[in-house]
Amino acid sequence: MQDYEYFLSSINNIKGIGKKTAQLFTKKKISNLFDLLWHIPVSKIETSKTVNIDDLQIGKTQSVKLCPKKYNFPRIRNLPNRVNCLASEKKIDCIFFNSYEGYIKKILPIDKDVIVYGKIGFYKGKYQITNPKLVSETEDGDLKDLSNYSLTDGLTITKYNNIIESVFKNMPILNEWHRKEILNKFNNVSWNECIKKIHSDDLEKIKNSNYFKRLIFDEIMANFLISSEIRKKIKKVKKKEKNFDIKTKDSYIKKLKFDLTGDQKKAIEEINKDLKSKNRMFRLIQGDVGSGKTIVSMIAALNVIKSGYQVAFMAPTEILAKQHYNFALNFFDKDINVELLTGKTEPAKRKNITENIKNNKIKIIIGTHALFQKKIIYKNLGLIIIDEQHKFGVRQRKELSDKGGANCDVLVMSATPIPRTMIMTIYGDMDVTLIKEKPKNRKEIKTYSKLESKIDEVIKFCKKEISLGNQIFWVCPLIEKSTKLDHQSAVEKSKFLKKYFKDKIGLIHGSLEKEKKNDVLDLFLNKKIDVLVSTTVIEVGIDFPNASVIVIENANKYGLSQLHQLRGRVGRGSTESSCILIFKSNLSENAKKRINILKASNDGFEISEQDMILRGYGDVLGFKQSGIKKFKLADPILHKDLFDMAEKEVRKIELNNEKLGEYYKLLKLYDRASIINDII
Ligand code: ADP
Ligand code: MG
Repeated sequence: MQDYEYFLSSINNIKGIGKKTAQLFTKKKISNLFDLLWHIPVSKIETSKTVNIDDLQIGKTQSVKLCPKKYNFPRIRNLPNRVNCLASEKKIDCIFFNSYEGYIKKILPIDKDVIVYGKIGFYKGKYQITNPKLVSETEDGDLKDLSNYSLTDGLTITKYNNIIESVFKNMPILNEWHRKEILNKFNNVSWNECIKKIHSDDLEKIKNSNYFKRLIFDEIMANFLISSEIRKKIKKVKKKEKNFDIKTKDSYIKKLKFDLTGDQKKAIEEINKDLKSKNRMFRLIQGDVGSGKTIVSMIAALNVIKSGYQVAFMAPTEILAKQHYNFALNFFDKDINVELLTGKTEPAKRKNITENIKNNKIKIIIGTHALFQKKIIYKNLGLIIIDEQHKFGVRQRKELSDKGGANCDVLVMSATPIPRTMIMTIYGDMDVTLIKEKPKNRKEIKTYSKLESKIDEVIKFCKKEISLGNQIFWVCPLIEKSTKLDHQSAVEKSKFLKKYFKDKIGLIHGSLEKEKKNDVLDLFLNKKIDVLVSTTVIEVGIDFPNASVIVIENANKYGLSQLHQLRGRVGRGSTESSCILIFKSNLSENAKKRINILKASNDGFEISEQDMILRGYGDVLGFKQSGIKKFKLADPILHKDLFDMAEKEVRKIELNNEKLGEYYKLLKLYDRASIINDII
């Protein structure tokens, strides 16, 4: 038996845990000993100091020795169960909300001295203790301090403490998984010592200790190592290296009206290296909105086509696919056959396209999910490009990489910048290229905040912009007026704005049919309308070079990163652009802070970091959907240094091609192994 297996054994194996108790543990999502140990105490109870009834202090949490005398169970809703007791011959009550009578009788038997612990109150002339917890004495009659756990009814603190103690008594000392240098940084504390410490000491007191830090580090390592294993696995697959002349792209770039930025060039170099290598590419390009990722991916496509392979380019929506298709038609020479395949493609055309993908006549196919239907069989797929798929989790990415076959490289693009510490957490299975530099011709987007009552000024400003040939986005949080929420609705707002912009205004929201949505977007793209009122449905990624103003209603409703994303829909051309944030009433201090961050920075990476500091990492941009389990202790903001250290350590292990060795234990314990078995 491996040493770690002890921790994975079921709690049923513990003496004293019967079927019933086990069920109570299941309620707390505790099924094995490791879960049990990770249910960490919320505080420390100094039970050894019982207080005399005359010295009790109202509002304090204290221990009292008392003798239960009489039960009062009123059986009326909202009335608590009450037990009259005596302490040093003086009256004191224990009261219980939401506790079963059986449980109360068990912990407070009549005429038996007990010590209870709880918050002291005073009601109708006597002391009372609300929802008290039972404290027991040790065999030699001494009281011992207990750790306080959040538990369900039926599980007593004493029992939990005893169980934890017995687990500790029997636990094997785990073989160390870290290198000496790493251990030194934590003053050589062992995992066993650490886990004991967090159960015996006041959490607040040890938060900065090596015991606590090491556990956090272990947790991060478990997370990073699994991603690293997946990446290694993907890279291990040998492919035929792609063979192309890196100079071919130059004549194509000359056709563009701009020079590439330094970061774009660097990205192209990194991708070229991957394409030419014998290992499969599995790379993410992370770049802020408007940083010019499309052209980078098209050059990758060009090189792959020149090496004799086909390319599949997938976008999340039809309209974005169409925009990429139009770009590709212009970009590639006529000898490269480009096609568009979406859900809307007519059956005859679809048949023709399917045929030509199969016989290798089509070199690059651009489209939506339709590209990966079973019916579509590629003759010679060499590269899959996926645009704007930040919501793909580890599992989906792995599936995708499997789809293409051994010779197929994968390039994913995302315009959702995340803080550095999170990149490894979320995209650790991929290599990551960052594009931070914005194209030179970009003017800064000016960000303003306005009160709703000053909407006249906003309309005036928009009219002026329109007279200069520019277009306006107008974003509302709701589709239709709501009786519950006092927010602007797109439908109402477009009616209101019609008074000012006449028939030059369009409306788009999630309940419109796809067809209708696309028609309106086309009208806007072709400048047939000046103002587009919408909910947040307009996807990131679509290029509206003439849109110079975005008005965002009820701006306090959105997170910082989302506001930055919305703002990124303007400012893609070379005109000066503005983002106007509208607020209902005067701003709170926190709201002011947020607006100032947006005004001060146009850097999505920085904004997402600030957002995370203000809101906690779980809430930012739906990381919850990313398939990453929430950390128990680690926090990418608070423990940045430990994340950095773990990243370095994992890279080192990768570089030296070390085996997981003792680290395997960590994956097992932290339940990452199930991911390995599933995915790898
Ligand atoms: P994103 O990174 O958000 O996908 P896009 O690739 O759509 O950005 O590029 C946004 C706009 O910037 C497009 O109109 C594109 O043609 C233009 N663009 C890309 N690279 C440059 C550059 N180096 N200089 C000027 N404009 C550029
Ligand atoms: Mg894009």
